[in-house]
Amino acid sequence: MNIADEFLKHAHFVDKRANQLSRDMLIELNKAHSSITGKLATIQADVLNKPFLKASYARRKKVLTMQAQAIENIITDIFKEINVIIEDAAQDTLFGTAQATHGIISKAAPTINVDFTKLHLPVAKKWFETTTIAGLLPNELINKLEASTRDKIISVSRQALIQGKGTLSMARMLKKQGIEGTYRGIEGLSRTLLLSASNYAKDELITENYSDVVKQWRYLATLDGRTCLVCGADDHSLFKLNEYKPVLPQHFNCRCTYVPVVENSIATGQRPTGKHSERWVQHRDGTRSRKFTPDKVSHHIGFTGSYQAWLKEQLKTDPAFVKDILGPKRFELFSKGKLNLKAMVTDGRIKNLKKTM
Ligand SMILES: [Zn+2]
Repeated sequence: MNIADEFLKHAHFVDKRANQLSRDMLIELNKAHSSITGKLATIQADVLNKPFLKASYARRKKVLTMQAQAIENIITDIFKEINVIIEDAAQDTLFGTAQATHGIISKAAPTINVDFTKLHLPVAKKWFETTTIAGLLPNELINKLEASTRDKIISVSRQALIQGKGTLSMARMLKKQGIEGTYRGIEGLSRTLLLSASNYAKDELITENYSDVVKQWRYLATLDGRTCLVCGADDHSLFKLNEYKPVLPQHFNCRCTYVPVVENSIATGQRPTGKHSERWVQHRDGTRSRKFTPDKVSHHIGFTGSYQAWLKEQLKTDPAFVKDILGPKRFELFSKGKLNLKAMVTDGRIKNLKKTM
């Protein structure tokens, strides 16, 4: 069996769970929207007897302070709720991944007959308290989102106040710029957190229960034009079970994964590859614009080697694609065989060109 394929299928489930988590978080934020709007309008009516810019210094100061405080209180409450939702989703992902990992290993090594109920399972608390994503703990990432959401809403509410907007247009501004401005952050956070939980669960389950079957991990990045050079350089590397390896996700929206290497099964067979295609779109008003769409993965022939080997292969047929990824200077050195991906990266960061030469 192809273990990598099985884990990629599971990663798809984790992705779907992350979408659900984003939706649940948005529902909470939308609740914040209506309570904040109401609260701000009340404070404004209570404190100001004329438009903000014409009001006295004391009243201006008072309304600013009271509104910021009200927003902070509401956001704090909403994020208490959001924390619970995230913990639930993480718990779900840890358990689901432990189950899936057990299922895949049991199929790959049928001689090892282990009862799932007897396994040492990953613990959510340990994940929360010890796993980092680009150096930050899950809780710290959530706090960062809370702070940026609060600041964004405070800033928009002040703009509305200073511009003398009525309640309705203030509500619209808060919705458009304050709440909807956090959507992308929420989606990224959901995906990154659950990917982290999933990687943690797989790692724990195998280290604690299957160290006699699994001796190595294979690092797998995605073979397409959106993979960053840091992940690309690590792609296809092998790590022993007790050896240091980069913690995944390496960065926000990282799509990399580790696949356990089990004897007599394939840790990396034919790997899906992808590119983004570009086409001209004719609009109704007669204008044209370029549109980039990811090619369907299935339309591409699979590749068995590393990201670097794949880029080398692409040099022959589609050098422009490689140039796009590496940039002109690195491309020149790479295509002459003078620079490999590992040499472009140090300690998880892309080196300046000067240092690589
Ligand atoms: Zn990555």
